[in-house]
Amino acid sequence: MVASIYPDYPPALTSEQSDYLFSNVKDWSILNGLAVRPSSSFVSEKIDPSRSLAVTAPVTLFPSLFPRACFQEARAIQTAYNELYACIANDEDWLGEVVKELAEVDDYISNLWNVHQAVKKEGYVQVLQNCSLPLQDYMVHKDPSKPDAEPEIKQVEFNTIASSFGGLSAKVSALHKHLLSISAYPPTTPSLISDTSLPPNPSIASISRGIATAHKAYGRSKNNTQLPLCTLFIVQDPENNAFDQQALATNLLTDHSVLTFRLPFSAVLSHTSIPADSPSRPLIYTPPHSPRTPYEVTTLYFRAGYSPAEYNSPESWKGRLHLERSAAIKCPSILTHLAGSKKIQQILATPSSPHLSHFLSSTSSAACINRIRNTFAAIYPLDDTAEGKHAISIATDTENARGYVLKPQREGGGNNIYELKIPPFIKSLGDNSKKYRGYILMNLIEPPALRNSVFRNGEVRSGEVIGELGVYGVCLWRHCRSEKGEREILENWEAGHLLRTKGRESEEGGVAAGFGAVDSVCLI
Ligand code: ADP
Ligand code: MG
Ligand code: MG
Repeated sequence: MVASIYPDYPPALTSEQSDYLFSNVKDWSILNGLAVRPSSSFVSEKIDPSRSLAVTAPVTLFPSLFPRACFQEARAIQTAYNELYACIANDEDWLGEVVKELAEVDDYISNLWNVHQAVKKEGYVQVLQNCSLPLQDYMVHKDPSKPDAEPEIKQVEFNTIASSFGGLSAKVSALHKHLLSISAYPPTTPSLISDTSLPPNPSIASISRGIATAHKAYGRSKNNTQLPLCTLFIVQDPENNAFDQQALATNLLTDHSVLTFRLPFSAVLSHTSIPADSPSRPLIYTPPHSPRTPYEVTTLYFRAGYSPAEYNSPESWKGRLHLERSAAIKCPSILTHLAGSKKIQQILATPSSPHLSHFLSSTSSAACINRIRNTFAAIYPLDDTAEGKHAISIATDTENARGYVLKPQREGGGNNIYELKIPPFIKSLGDNSKKYRGYILMNLIEPPALRNSVFRNGEVRSGEVIGELGVYGVCLWRHCRSEKGEREILENWEAGHLLRTKGRESEEGGVAAGFGAVDSVCLI
């Protein structure tokens, strides 16, 4: 395992070395916007954290060791993965069958589907382009029963909405390179941290280029009086991750001359409108500040709206419907959002399932499809099929549930149920086994443990950690609603990466959710 090959990584530091490294992390991070707003529990009650404060984002002090072949493979297959999810989002009949089953037991999914149905009835006006900024998450897996086997990547999940840290991840890579260049890292034997082991991370430039490409594809203003154009980031309120988003917004302005505004999801109805007399339904955003010049929104980038807790009133659903029916290009549309459901991942990963090949065979070679299949961990439905019944027997048995994670159709961390907590949870759902269908059961991936130090909320903690590699993608395609599954991919590229690292003892690794840190890879 990686950890046992390099037991002395990261290198031990003297207290002088530690002070030097640490003060540079603090200064460089604030100087370069590798920052978050502090959570309210971290600041004095007298200070409103949304006003002006920033602290260093949770980061690792060293880049984490990561197998080079796994890193290259994850990047190499990203465009095929982008294509796969574009196909799924485009095949409304197939997606609808899956979603309707979920909707019977899951109100949130049902509400999302209803929004899509309502817009479909009225007629989509943005039929040509659809854009998404997915993040495909992996962990390194090494079969413990095969000591000589090479490590491989296994998919944790595919996110189609609100993938975060594209702004900060490039900065962590730059921070670790900076620390190397100022000799903040003592030499290791063998020499591990070097310019060639720290790959470039173009996530900011590449994701921004994706949004700018959608902006351009929108074309001219569709309003009667031609309005200036902008992109709109739909964000949370309060939004701790503002600097991550600002990194993308700033790049959009400086490199592409595209103006971006950030708007809380809860303020969508009060700050945007669609003129009643305009059949092309442009989305008009009027900033609250003077001179209140209205802009037409070309592209909506959702960094919110992925959790039922955000839809806490009928107005919230009206807001999502309002955005979906507009002419703006959505990252993502409701169909693309739904394509990212954990249930879809389970269907694709079922070994006997023909769907993966069905979706990709016209554009990808059998070898490429196989490479995608190799990234799947075992995932089971909880239904009446033979696999489903087997999974239910595991999920209800205290002896057997070890080694599994149960997942609902949710995003954003903190929703899964792990190992021995699964049987009592299933019991709490009651006798109606139909409810089980809203969940999938997945084998836990067991990545080799590494060591690192995490700087978070002013404290450094060192110990065993686990890394999760995300690869960003940009995909823009022409959505043909008339013919089943037909689509035309206009742009498709891999858009940089993200390494998130968490303490080995922690079940979930969400950086924003409070358990993890943003990291960079040191390839071995
Ligand atoms: P979410 O959409 O909420 O991020 P995930 O499927 O990514 O849901 O699960 C959240 C976290 O749980 C992951 O970041 C990872 O740390 C852990 N996790 C999820 N699935 C697995 C798995 N199969 N093996 C090991 N850890 C997992
Ligand atoms: Mg996740
Ligand atoms: Mg997710």
